[in-house]
Parts: sequence; structure tokens; C-alpha cells
Amino acid sequence: MSRIAVYPGSFDPITVGHVDIITRIAGLFDEVIVLVSQSSQKKALFTAEERKALIEKTLKHIPNMKVDIFEGLTTDYVRQKKAQVIVRGLRAVVDFEYEMTMSSINQKLAPEIETMLVFARPEFYYISSRGVKEVAMNGGALEGLVPPTVVQPLLEKTRK
Ligand code: ADP
Repeated sequence: MSRIAVYPGSFDPITVGHVDIITRIAGLFDEVIVLVSQSSQKKALFTAEERKALIEKTLKHIPNMKVDIFEGLTTDYVRQKKAQVIVRGLRAVVDFEYEMTMSSINQKLAPEIETMLVFARPEFYYISSRGVKEVAMNGGALEGLVPPTVVQPLLEKTRK
């Protein structure tokens, strides 16, 4: 049986923190599916298709990773794909409460699916998609916050 992990998120846009988590978990599973959530509640800067394309371009060197778009319950997607694990990244303590609640809800919905929390590396713990968008909008340097593939698209989006 192949071990499949699903890493869901907004990825609006992908940051170096996300890249680090994906790279690390790709070595632990047969397949990693990065799941771009198309949430009707969250107003995104990039469309889901654009976010997916940026992730694919950034991480094309990881052969056991693929990217998908989904609207709905993550647990439904995980079941569809016969995956076993949902991966989430943990930065500061503020992430903890939210992740614990989400993992409890998901456990209730699908007891057979495990949530695995992966700690951010210290050098990335302060990086968030929201933060990098703020930096871009105010003309700050994006190097080291987002992968090189994202710099230009982010500048173009925030210039409009
Ligand atoms: P969401 O909107 O679902 O929180 P994000 O795209 O912001 O999605 O993040 C997806 C996942 O990646 C979340 O589990 C988040 O905690 C994690 N994450 C975000 N930034 C970092 C980072 N710098 N280091 C490690 N994990 C991160």
C-alpha cells in the first residue's frame, strides 16, 4: 500500500515556509498531494489555478509531489484519494489552537485519517502568505520570503 499525504492550504501564494514543509514530507511519503483549497469564504489574491501553477513550477524537481484544487471537506478529498495522512505546518503557538480544533473535527469526520503536524524551521516560522503579500504591497524585498518563481507574479498582482 502506498503512503499518501495530503498537505492542504490556501497557498496564496506559496512561500519558502511551505516549500520547506513540502520538501521535508516528500521524503517521508510515497506521494505528497499539495491541495489548494478553493474557499468561497477567503478572498484570495491569486486564483486557485494560478496558485496551483506556481506550486508546480516551484517544485517541479520533486517527482512524488502533485498539486490539486479542491472545494469541500479535506477529509472527503483524502478518502477519495485513499490517502492516510493530512499534513499541516505549525509555526507559533497561535497556530496550535486552530490546528488542534481542525484536527479534532477531521478526526470526528474521518477517524481513520491522521493529522500530522510538522514544525516550521526556526528560520521560517515568521513567514506567512499574508505577511509576504503585505511586504509586496508596500514595495519591500521579497527575496528569501517567497521562492524566486513567485517574486514576479506577486509583484505584478500587487501592482494592480
Ligand atoms: P491556511 O489558509 O489553510 O492556513 P496556508 O496556505 O496559510 O493555509 O498554510 C498552509 C499550511 O502551511 C498551514 O498548515 C500553515 O500552518 C503552514 N504554514 C504556513 N506558513 C508556514 C511556514 N512559514 N512554515 C511552516 N508551515 C507553514
